[in-house]
Amino acid sequence: MPRPDPALVAESLALVQAQAAARWEIAAITQASVRAEVAAFAGWYSSADISSWVARLAKMTRASQRQTASSTSAFGLRLLRLVSGRQASRGRVDVDRLWGGVPLESVYARLADDYRFLRATEPLSDDQVLERVVQRAGAQTDQALTLAMRAQWQADAERSPVVSLYRRVIHPEVATEASARDGEAPPLPCGLCVVVADRVYKVAELLPVHTFCRCTVAPIVGAAGGSGDPGLSLNQADLERIYALGGGTSAAVLAKVRVAVREHGELGPVLRSAADEFRGPDQVKAAATR
Ligand SMILES: [Zn+2]
Repeated sequence: MPRPDPALVAESLALVQAQAAARWEIAAITQASVRAEVAAFAGWYSSADISSWVARLAKMTRASQRQTASSTSAFGLRLLRLVSGRQASRGRVDVDRLWGGVPLESVYARLADDYRFLRATEPLSDDQVLERVVQRAGAQTDQALTLAMRAQWQADAERSPVVSLYRRVIHPEVATEASARDGEAPPLPCGLCVVVADRVYKVAELLPVHTFCRCTVAPIVGAAGGSGDPGLSLNQADLERIYALGGGTSAAVLAKVRVAVREHGELGPVLRSAADEFRGPDQVKAAATR
């Protein structure tokens, strides 16, 4: 099968790296703001305080979801044009509908439930409880932004007349907030995604993601693995680097990881280690109507 032109691969690499960097900058700033708001909150037992607090958190996150969608679209459309030679039309997704229709205010309100539950049931200090809640707030915020990326990519790809497949692009080069702060090399990201890096998805399918997923996406024109599939070359180069870093060990460890795609009731398709279990749409409906 003809391989992609090296110039196409190089330009695609520049675009997906720019997209990943923009996405992670927005994510780092938003997570830091949300964490700070949560760490400073003291109205855990006041429903009036909770409503104004979750409204602030949701407003911040929605603004960042819109930014994430816009930057995903800006880079995604350039990549689509590069690979397909065709212009795709633009239009930003409605970020209010991303969390399975659950408003972000309700998502963040779960933090207050968590706080009170942990205070009542766990032998933890106030600081320890707060730390757990802050961590969860960061994860929720990250998920909200990933959902914006995923939905915007899909909306743009569906408008392209020639793209019917795509693949995830893994990003070992992206530092986490912690690794950047400690001056460390970026960790190997998205272990689950490394395992499924060879999967190809139809444009009508949503990308399976997970909390703190660092992946972006690349369109495929024509056959997977052919001249219109630069993402395969990008992933192969990174996988070789990842395996070289850990010698035979990481390859052996990764070969043992079994990854499953589960349909999460609110988040859509989610990657999990095959051992983990999940609430499906039926369980979520049942819980909501209890
Ligand atoms: Zn990932």
